[in-house]
Amino acid sequence: MAIDTIILVPFLLIENNLLNYLQRELNKTFQLPIIIEKPIPLPKSGYSEKRKQYDGNYFINELKKKEYKDKLVLGICDVDLYVPHLNFIFGLASPLQGIAIISLTRLREEFYNRPKKESLFFIRSLKEAIHEIGHLFNLEHCKNQKCVMFFSNSLLDTDRKGPNFCSACLKKLKGR
Ligand SMILES: [Zn+2]
Ligand SMILES: [Zn+2]
Repeated sequence: MAIDTIILVPFLLIENNLLNYLQRELNKTFQLPIIIEKPIPLPKSGYSEKRKQYDGNYFINELKKKEYKDKLVLGICDVDLYVPHLNFIFGLASPLQGIAIISLTRLREEFYNRPKKESLFFIRSLKEAIHEIGHLFNLEHCKNQKCVMFFSNSLLDTDRKGPNFCSACLKKLKGR
């Protein structure tokens, strides 16, 4: 499949300045047009009353219904996500379907009761977005801690890595 566009789909309202920033930066990284769609509702059935979190798989399924052709889709939500075997996730990708989702909730300093830092929040969001889109281009996790494809187990991992691909991952990306 020849990917010609990346589509950003906000679940509920996401701050416009963040969406515009991601659009601009993702365009630079992937050299593809980035389209921002209208916000869609949260997948209510994905909510776990017990965990007070949403199952990320429901977001992937919700985005699948839209049936975009030759496009990659990145959902963006601001609710806390999990998958059944993990306490929480920053994001989730389904490369076979070309669909991924990121959660902004744990990227905000306020989540940890620290003062808001917008520039830090923006760069974290960009790293997670690039990471999940990297998966959609069939990149796997990278052992290089500075590479954007390094798996973030905690926010420290996210803050340590850069928004860029290491030379090995970049080579795989270009060879797609
Ligand atoms: Zn990953
Ligand atoms: Zn790498």
